[in-house]
Amino acid sequence: MTVEGFFERLRTEGRIVIVGASLAGLTAAETLRAEGFTGSLTMIGDEPYEPYDRPPLSKAVLLGKASPHRTDLPRRRELDADWRLGVAAAGLDLGARRVRLADGDEVEYDRLLIATGVRARPWPNETEAQLDGVFVLRTRDDAVALHRRLGAAPRRVFVIGAGFTGSEIASACRYQDLAVTVAERANAPLVGALGGVVGAVAAELQRENGVDLRTGVTVTALEGDTSGRVRAAHLSDGGVVETDVVVVSLGATRNTEWLTGSGLGAGPRGVACDAGCRAFDFRGIVTDDVFVAGDVARSPHPLFNYQFLSLEHWGNAVSQAEVAAHNMISPSADRRPHIWVPAFWSSQFGVNIKSVGVPTMGDQIMITQGSLAERRFVGAYGYQGRVIAAVSFDNTRWLQFYQQLIETAAPFPLEYSTVDRRPEGRRPIPADFPDPSLPTHGPTVTLSGYSPVDRRLVFTPARH
Ligand SMILES: Cc1cc2nc3c(=O)[nH]c(=O)nc-3n(C[C@H](O)[C@H](O)[C@H](O)COP(=O)(O)OP(=O)(O)OC[C@H]3O[C@@H](n4cnc5c(N)ncnc54)[C@H](O)[C@@H]3O)c2cc1C
Repeated sequence: MTVEGFFERLRTEGRIVIVGASLAGLTAAETLRAEGFTGSLTMIGDEPYEPYDRPPLSKAVLLGKASPHRTDLPRRRELDADWRLGVAAAGLDLGARRVRLADGDEVEYDRLLIATGVRARPWPNETEAQLDGVFVLRTRDDAVALHRRLGAAPRRVFVIGAGFTGSEIASACRYQDLAVTVAERANAPLVGALGGVVGAVAAELQRENGVDLRTGVTVTALEGDTSGRVRAAHLSDGGVVETDVVVVSLGATRNTEWLTGSGLGAGPRGVACDAGCRAFDFRGIVTDDVFVAGDVARSPHPLFNYQFLSLEHWGNAVSQAEVAAHNMISPSADRRPHIWVPAFWSSQFGVNIKSVGVPTMGDQIMITQGSLAERRFVGAYGYQGRVIAAVSFDNTRWLQFYQQLIETAAPFPLEYSTVDRRPEGRRPIPADFPDPSLPTHGPTVTLSGYSPVDRRLVFTPARH
């Protein structure tokens, strides 16, 4: 059969299976249909719900402005798909092109998309994690449970980890006038994602809004009462905080366990793929029929020294799923690369925070607009003499401009004057990221590839 004939048949009669029925999975399915795929489409999702949106769960839902049951993702078109919801994929046979389901069923494919995302990292002590009043926030069910408990007027909410999600939860609590303590291992919130300079601003923001912020501490134990309800958190500095709600916000774990033994290059850092979203097998050889998209993927990016990026960004899941879907049904000459510039937003304590690029790669930052003191600014991050990222607090309209600087590898420090540049912003200062080998609550961009300037990974071949 000719290449054209093969792809014509794949597009009309092929069997495509998507594992992970959320943002990336739905976007890929819609793109496949929009691009003319008329074969069979199977959507496998372990949650019982049709695809819903997660960002509102820590924002509008906790603020009481949206119902957790009403965050379904909008549908752009009829899908004509076989939905297998409430059942997890439990294994993959690459040779036989078959996905095994937890209920024992098997589904065959010609093309497979892995879009299984991440899950909240639980509190490591299982007994303590099971205390009544201990929550995580990743799913709709988590949001329903947490929202209900916050509505029952707890005396104090205790948040472990001041990354984006932890900070948004603290913000929602303060909005409802609930007493809240936040414990963070680093010396400020958001340090893992944005560095210490911006983290210091986030710390002020929390304290001014009435958060009891404890930094430079870890939580050593959660204590329950005789009826199994959480009653206190113990800290590494000897402090004890009485609380009846604990939200564990320690970052995420990639959902790759179901691929163990499949032969794919999958592990705790995600499923490795090329810029065209094709999965690598464990030998580093690219597969032709297995694709990856969204939070579970790690893929190389030419703008960021070909490092493998793992992104927990809404926009990345959409963009990568569109590219993956297109490439699944296209011959190699028509395939596209996924070279989206990372972008992330958050809103907390009344401030809109947005970043573009990869701040964690930056070694220096300069405040190019506004000022840290006013909490309305743009900070540009530099890496080896070029602009690598930017972050804005309440100043998003300029970020498109900074994205262009990142895309064109504009020189850093920035020499030109910008609209509201202040004298203190003329000089770059260290961005102050924590040592990457120390665990934090987790940046939303993880660099996991080989970096020529700093060897973080050592490859130890297995002995035969
Ligand atoms: C509370 C919260 C707030 C957020 N806020 C922001 C924000 O402000 N800005 C931003 O850019 N991003 C934000 N994000 C991140 C954004 O929601 C994610 O980037 C996006 O959901 C990724 O989509 P995905 O489809 O790749 O993965 P997911 O949405 O994680 O979906 C993966 C799906 O696969 C399912 N699954 C896992 N394993 C299996 C299996 N073996 N078999 C079948 N199904 C399986 C999962 O249960 C899940 O339903 C937020 C996330 C959360 C949780």
